[in-house]
Amino acid sequence: MPVQRVVLNSRPGNNGVPVPAHFRLEETTLAPDLEDGEVLVRTLCLSVDPYMRCRMNEDTGVGYVTPWQLSECVDGGGVGVVESSRCSACSEGDVVTSFNWPWQTKAVMKGSALQKVDPQVVDGHLSYFLGAVGITGLTALLGVREKGNVTKGANQTMVVSGAAGACGSVAGQIGRLDGCVRAVGICGSEEKCRALVDDCGFSAAINYRKEDIPAKLQELCPDGIDVYFDNVGGGISDTVIAQMNNNSHVILCGQISQYNKDVPYPPPLSEEIQETLRRNNITRERFTVLNYMNKADAALCELSQLVKSGHINVLETVVEGIEKMGDAFCSMMKGGNIGKQIIKISE
Ligand code: NDP
Repeated sequence: MPVQRVVLNSRPGNNGVPVPAHFRLEETTLAPDLEDGEVLVRTLCLSVDPYMRCRMNEDTGVGYVTPWQLSECVDGGGVGVVESSRCSACSEGDVVTSFNWPWQTKAVMKGSALQKVDPQVVDGHLSYFLGAVGITGLTALLGVREKGNVTKGANQTMVVSGAAGACGSVAGQIGRLDGCVRAVGICGSEEKCRALVDDCGFSAAINYRKEDIPAKLQELCPDGIDVYFDNVGGGISDTVIAQMNNNSHVILCGQISQYNKDVPYPPPLSEEIQETLRRNNITRERFTVLNYMNKADAALCELSQLVKSGHINVLETVVEGIEKMGDAFCSMMKGGNIGKQIIKISE
């Protein structure tokens, strides 16, 4: 059976910016028969995520993911439907997901590597399993709960960087639901600012490309900043930390502004920022969602209810076609997405 797949064509180098030509679309053929335990799946939608940038390097620099290999099929989060099965746990028509879904229109996978999901949990919006009711929703919810110290009635202000992305847009909404009186987003366009305020209940948003971040933060956070959900690092985060209250908390979720640089993770802070953290007793603990998978089932159930009830509004940018995978990844890395970047592969 002929299928299309995306392979890694070349590496950008640790200090390079990824471009679509680092990926290559190929035709390949699947073996006609399944072995015991195997499942034929049709891919419905795929995810592109910032952590994939380190998989483009020869060495990812982190323990929990391996590098993609040149000329081999790229993989990541995916959702699909079972077309035929020789695995007792999967039947034809089941909707299944995996963190290691090949970027391929159809694939033969081990049934044991797939997780069956119930479309009702997302009211049929299957791409939500890759976003708000999947890993980025979990990251937002558990990041806020585990590291944010949000307390109802405590008059707290939360700031979120990368706020109009998959994690950020949900994190600000969780912050508000959990009791923050203000959630202020920082993001890269006017359209994103409007989406945060009009659709996601953020109190205000700052366009870091156009606006004076320190002045806007002072104006929009009159009682200072108590919780900072940090997706980007670099100069934006230094500016936020400088305005944080005593005994406040940084949720160190990601540092995307540094991902095209050959620096360790998390990237080292300047002496000045370290001194600010010490002087003001600000916690800044690294959060890794994979360390909290024992809490995932309960958290996904809560996210599903919050989405279904309309308490969380989901933002998505959807493009169609496996040939768009490389474009979609590179676009997301430089801010082309509002909410979760999804690639629809088939109906
Ligand atoms: P997003 O949907 O937020 O997409 C990435 C966004 O980052 C872009 O849209 C862009 O928005 C922003 N961005 C890119 N470059 C820069 C820059 N130089 N400065 C500021 N913003 C930039 O991705 P995710 O929600 O999937 O991920 C967000 C963060 O969370 C990432 O750092 C990621 O690594 C991290 N993460 C961490 C996890 C964990 O377990 N700790 C799990 C999942 C994600 P803009 O237009 O605003 O620039």
